[in-house]
Amino acid sequence: MLYKNYIGGEWVDAKGGGTFQSVNPATGAVLGDVALSGPEDVNAAAEAAASAFDAWRKTPAPKRGEILFRAGEILVRRKEELARLMTQEMGKVLKETRGDVQEAIDMTYYMAGEGRRLFGQTTPSELPNKFAMSLRDPIGVVAAITPWNFPLAIPTWKIMPALIAGNTVVFKPASDTPILAWQLASILEEAGLPPGALNVVFGPGGQAGQALVESLKVALVSFTGSTAVGRELGATASARGKRVSLEMGGKNAILVMADADLELAVEGIIWSAFGTTGQRCTAASRVIAQRGIAEELTQMIVARAEKLRLGDGLRADTDMGPLINEAARRKVHAYVQVGQQEGARLRAGGETAETGELRRGFFYKPTVFAEVRPEARLAQEEIFGPVVAVIPVDNLQEAIAVNNATGYGLSSSLYTRDVNQAFQAIRDITTGLVYINAGTIGAEVHLPFGGTRGTGNGHREAGQSALDIFSEWKTVFVDYSGRLQRAQIDVEEQKSQP
Ligand code: NDP
Repeated sequence: MLYKNYIGGEWVDAKGGGTFQSVNPATGAVLGDVALSGPEDVNAAAEAAASAFDAWRKTPAPKRGEILFRAGEILVRRKEELARLMTQEMGKVLKETRGDVQEAIDMTYYMAGEGRRLFGQTTPSELPNKFAMSLRDPIGVVAAITPWNFPLAIPTWKIMPALIAGNTVVFKPASDTPILAWQLASILEEAGLPPGALNVVFGPGGQAGQALVESLKVALVSFTGSTAVGRELGATASARGKRVSLEMGGKNAILVMADADLELAVEGIIWSAFGTTGQRCTAASRVIAQRGIAEELTQMIVARAEKLRLGDGLRADTDMGPLINEAARRKVHAYVQVGQQEGARLRAGGETAETGELRRGFFYKPTVFAEVRPEARLAQEEIFGPVVAVIPVDNLQEAIAVNNATGYGLSSSLYTRDVNQAFQAIRDITTGLVYINAGTIGAEVHLPFGGTRGTGNGHREAGQSALDIFSEWKTVFVDYSGRLQRAQIDVEEQKSQP
């Protein structure tokens, strides 16, 4: 099947006629051909979004919400089918792809409900017979640029709040997961979204993505992906006066104190380090362990990591799927070599997995390094694969300092039974997400999500904070006194009157 662009409510070929393939990373099977778009396709999509904006922003928000509700219902009905398709397109195991679809459902319903809220404020004026309020206005055409690791969840985090706030959207999904993006667009079409409110263009970031960021029709760029790409694209968009919201890389850690329930901590570490094959922005790639238990903890992690079954995520007995592509596998292996050169001790994995059926996919063994120095590259740079580095420390203060000392700031977790330590950590950890006695992953759609330092640029997706990205505040004063009243100035005069 050929997956075409969706522009102005029509499914259309790329103007240049080119296509690329979507490939199953576990088996190498080709899943379909996809329109290979260039700047002319992007410009057509941005034009369609700009034309649709006025009617969409004037559609009552509860009506916009009804369309989102219907989309949510379709997602519910098709959850299993979409999860299976997602496992085939990007490799993560079925229980995780079901979670991805569920997150899309949750976000869609949550933002649908916002159609009947979108609260502003009313507040007293300092002057008599004057009314003051603030309300949310849409911004215009939103460019949504997304990665492949959450092919439905992340797009809904952008598209649903953007639409409910009255914006129109041009969506450029990752080239590794175009089919799930196509499905999302067709679901919104079926739900009754008017033509042009959402447009989808497939194609390489360097061409289609770049053209979208540069488009004069685009008012806001909402990007999730790597820090290198995000920073560059953010600079381009800012220079053109656009709003920019960036969700980027992570180097997340699980801190384990000597008093912790080690079994529980290991559960959290295995899930956070090797879930999605370590390809989550919130993946735990560092374990910062108090010295007294560091070796015992390492042995427990290694024992569990070595038991993980690799394979096609569609199989019920698979624990960990493949990496997304060969380039990702080469990058992971290069970091393993860096770790060894840096003197860290390789305790598990460290090589590709190529026995039997695994030969067809991009598999890499769950990898554990011990005795890693906090400043080592292995402990500082985002690997985005199934590699975890155990860093020994003396106490909680040192653990927090090590945790905070990377260029990223997304998620941290602390395992302890001591409530005082827990609250000190909550106070002193400087990442956007903090978990106590749970791993580094587990976002819920109604809470702010995002990070500090190189992870973001000050915005938070999800929760009410998502609406701040996708709307402008408009402050409104209605003076019903029938005379000129001057703020600040007439207030002083009133005070001086007897
Ligand atoms: P990339 O930065 O490579 O790509 C992200 C998106 O940007 C893709 O759609 C890509 O297109 C596009 N893109 C690439 N280059 C450009 C460009 N010059 N102009 C415009 N668009 C461009 O990231 P990955 O897809 O590899 O995703 C992994 C990264 O995403 C990790 O760093 C991870 O931490 C981060 N991430 C962050 C999250 C967060 O919330 N903080 C959540 C999930 C992931 P194409 O696919 O065609 O290359």
